[in-house]
Amino acid sequence: MSRIASVLLPMPLPEAFDYAEPDGMGLEVGDQVSVPLGPRRLRGVVTALREALGGNRPLKPVAERLEDPRLPPGTLEFIQWAARYAVDEPGQPLAIALRGARAPKARPVRVVELSGIAPARATPTRSRVLEAAIGAPLSPADLARAAGVSSGVIKALIDEGALTVRLMEAEARFDDPDPSCPGAALNPSQAAAAAALKAMLAEGGFNVALLDGVTGSGKTEVYLEAAAAVLAADATAQVLILLPEIALTQAVIARVATRFGAAPAEWHSDVAPPARRRVWEAVATGRCRIVVGARSALFLPFTNLALIVVDEEHDASFKQEEGFIYHARDLAVARGKIEDAAVVLASATPSLESFRNAETGRYRWLRLTTRHGAATLPDITLIDLRETPPDAGRWLSPPLVKAMGETFARGEQTLLFLNRRGYAPLVLCKACGERLCAPDTDSGLVEHRYSGRLVCHLTGFSMPKPKACPHCGAHDSLVSIGPGVERVEEEARSLFPQARVAVFSSDTVYDAREARRLIEAMADGQIDILVATQAAAKGHNFPSLTLAGVVDADLGLRGGDLRAAERTYQLLAQATGRAGRKDRPGRALLQTWAPEHAVMQALAAQDRDAFVAAEMAERELAGMPPFGRLAAVIVSGLDPVQLESFVQGMAQAAPNTPGVAVYGPADAPLGLIRGRRRKRFLVRADRTVDLSAYMAAWRARVKPPAAIRVAIDIDPYSFL
Ligand code: ADP
Repeated sequence: MSRIASVLLPMPLPEAFDYAEPDGMGLEVGDQVSVPLGPRRLRGVVTALREALGGNRPLKPVAERLEDPRLPPGTLEFIQWAARYAVDEPGQPLAIALRGARAPKARPVRVVELSGIAPARATPTRSRVLEAAIGAPLSPADLARAAGVSSGVIKALIDEGALTVRLMEAEARFDDPDPSCPGAALNPSQAAAAAALKAMLAEGGFNVALLDGVTGSGKTEVYLEAAAAVLAADATAQVLILLPEIALTQAVIARVATRFGAAPAEWHSDVAPPARRRVWEAVATGRCRIVVGARSALFLPFTNLALIVVDEEHDASFKQEEGFIYHARDLAVARGKIEDAAVVLASATPSLESFRNAETGRYRWLRLTTRHGAATLPDITLIDLRETPPDAGRWLSPPLVKAMGETFARGEQTLLFLNRRGYAPLVLCKACGERLCAPDTDSGLVEHRYSGRLVCHLTGFSMPKPKACPHCGAHDSLVSIGPGVERVEEEARSLFPQARVAVFSSDTVYDAREARRLIEAMADGQIDILVATQAAAKGHNFPSLTLAGVVDADLGLRGGDLRAAERTYQLLAQATGRAGRKDRPGRALLQTWAPEHAVMQALAAQDRDAFVAAEMAERELAGMPPFGRLAAVIVSGLDPVQLESFVQGMAQAAPNTPGVAVYGPADAPLGLIRGRRRKRFLVRADRTVDLSAYMAAWRARVKPPAAIRVAIDIDPYSFL
């Protein structure tokens, strides 16, 4: 009897489509296939197979079973789970999962090999070539280099037939990691944490540990020990290490390579398509055993995933806000459960969600309370900007400037932290008062002096800075208000003309290689003052860095969303935690207009637990996460009247469920983006409610017109 294959396509469709399996194709669940959809042929994945009962209408047949690796069952289950959780079409996470499978293959390379025919004339140069050609095939250029001869010699040997040329598939070799390579000698508290992790791994199955250790306590060393245990216990086991920023991957890749004598695979948006394809196939066939990557690495087709590490687990960059909306930390725990794998969440400032899970015993709580090698945490001092403000048009206050001078005089390094890209965050016309925005968008343009342009960080729109105000036409009336990293850099240069000053932000550091270059230059002492956004504030160890200056400690608090205090605390603790080593104590200075704020007081007292306790109490009172659940709905459309009538109808359609409250619709704070008007709902639910199911039921009751988009965000981090 013939069979029917359900095929999921990597696109926003509500479900898998049925196709007939042609006789003899021998499909299995997880196979990649090519199927017809309208006039097109598309790549999809078989999610189910069933016997065809007679009498159904005829189905189109599967066109072809692709030679590419099959998606393992765990990956398929994870994709379906993720879609249900995020209340989105399963084709969306499938599209992420197939990104590597759909990338172009690397082109075959030309290689030369010995033909077995001796050259007509033997010379010492020629013998060198023949010797170098024994072993793995090389390209003509590499062979010439290996033998130390000119390309002419190789060409002559090819012409004579002593060497033959063929095309070779560029196959990915991922050297097998060697878990028996010696790691660092662990200090007693690291050894205790590593032993607890290994005991957890020995139990087998799904378990989560929170590795809660101050900056520089050696969390990386500890989780690499756990990785070694996993790799040693099972010769096919795979390990995934997730990091929030591309800038951090380079350092961790280097440490993994040192620890296991083999470089891991790298996975993030900067990895070129052919390399992505190689990693994807190597992961799907079990040839690659360690992956270090950004959040989308979670969707790779692991065959035997045994350990997932989420480093800097508190970091908001793990939240994907566009397209398929998900939080990689939460999905990592879910994937661990599906794969029966262990999960390690590491941070110096864990999220309140993970804290709560550790407190209630759902996660094992492993603490590292001291920095390795007796390095002490820096002294933290608040600078009250009301008492010692910077000069007009300046951003660094006298006490910070003094400390920078002392640090520079001792030949040590300063990190100035400001989480604002560009030169100035606001551009105003002093004639008419207009604030310059991107077209049809509520978000202001930011001046960038490096590029000489005004840039919208939300939409990517940019334009040269105009000579006259686009609104009133007044000449030379545009003024730049407030500081960005470029402006602080300018000030640091003018204060310390001899110092070597550099900027680290996503505008100056556009790819992983540039990030590594700058981080190495800093670690090497080639930079005296580094002005950085959050991109450089975390995870790095700079031996001569003894002063961390936070230019605007209040910046994160102004957003006023649910996590403003938590995020500010985490960011500032990371930024200030960078300074100082065992032989050189560090200090951190925080410029603030609100030194009495609970966040500033907790930072100055270095009392994280008190801060967390206070913040938890507030959240509990309000029933907010981690004590309740939240979801947001963002509805957008071009026509305000149509949008308003749709959201009113949507409000009416909200199911009435105990323990769930729906707020809205309200105008989104960013009410207009690229001409689309935006409205929001916020849903709060008790922890016992299956919020994804509630949202799916609500979504099913409304039929948005084609011009209206409805996006659901489970556990929102952005409230704009
Ligand atoms: P964390 O991830 O907790 O911030 P790291 O693992 O990056 O800390 O360690 C901080 C620094 O201390 C690194 O330079 C690391 O190489 C070093 N270090 C940590 N533990 C040890 C150890 N047991 N032996 C030698 N060096 C260590």
